[in-house]
Amino acid sequence: MRAGAEAEPREGQDQGPTANARSVERLEVTVNTPAGPVTAPVEVPTGFIPVTEIVPLLRRLGEQAQALVERTALATGQTISCRKGCAACCRMLIPLSAPEAYRLKDTISQMPEDRRKATLDRIAQAQHRLNAAAMLTRLSEIAESERQWSDAEMEPINRAYFALQMPCPFLVDETCSIYEDRPAACRELQVTSPAEWCRDPVTNPVRALPVPLRVSTVLGLLWSTLVGGPIRFIPLPLALAWSDRHADDGLRRWKGPDLLEKALDQVWRFLSQNRTED
Ligand code: SF4
Repeated sequence: MRAGAEAEPREGQDQGPTANARSVERLEVTVNTPAGPVTAPVEVPTGFIPVTEIVPLLRRLGEQAQALVERTALATGQTISCRKGCAACCRMLIPLSAPEAYRLKDTISQMPEDRRKATLDRIAQAQHRLNAAAMLTRLSEIAESERQWSDAEMEPINRAYFALQMPCPFLVDETCSIYEDRPAACRELQVTSPAEWCRDPVTNPVRALPVPLRVSTVLGLLWSTLVGGPIRFIPLPLALAWSDRHADDGLRRWKGPDLLEKALDQVWRFLSQNRTED
């Protein structure tokens, strides 16, 4: 068994039909993160599945690890400032992994017609605004790049994007309209500094909680292993266009248990690299 991530069949529940008659394997996944161990029950189809089906599991593990960090912060007298209706961070450049980009496309395609149309209009407006600010071409190059962009390279781009103060296309009345399916990066940002500081994070020393399991990076590693190429950074407003351009890869399928094992391998890889860097 791996030191960082383990998957054990749950007693008496190792196989069985689901409501839609898919055969599934039921497991309990335990991951030892720097914040402590987290465990999640998992149902993985034994047949062939797209990479998007593994996204909720990793998000769940990431959220549980984040909850441990949050608990520690509260126990040491810190306050989490993030609240519903406070959406300063929804003007930041949100990076998506390829599996999350495909997942976002699925989310949009499942919306009722009027909501989908309004969402697509907001995405088009965001792209128009990025084009007017001479940022659209650069962001498209980053999404399609054959190399991974460094944090140092992304820093000025992140700043320029935030300076636009452009709301995320999924922000409606200062609330996330896809909250249950929002990207990992949105789930992982929690601050303990005053909320108003987030309106100007360049000037203010915003304090963010540590992220023990960076799920978009894990998903990026997984996708790179599955189809080759770098750990991809896809800016959120371009995710739908990117998914359409790479629709063939989005149709690929892997055996559920194999995909889960590959995903847990990347969790382990991320955690071991993180520990090494510590
Ligand atoms: S997806 Fe939701 S939480 Fe993330 S930036 Fe957009 S509105 Fe905010």
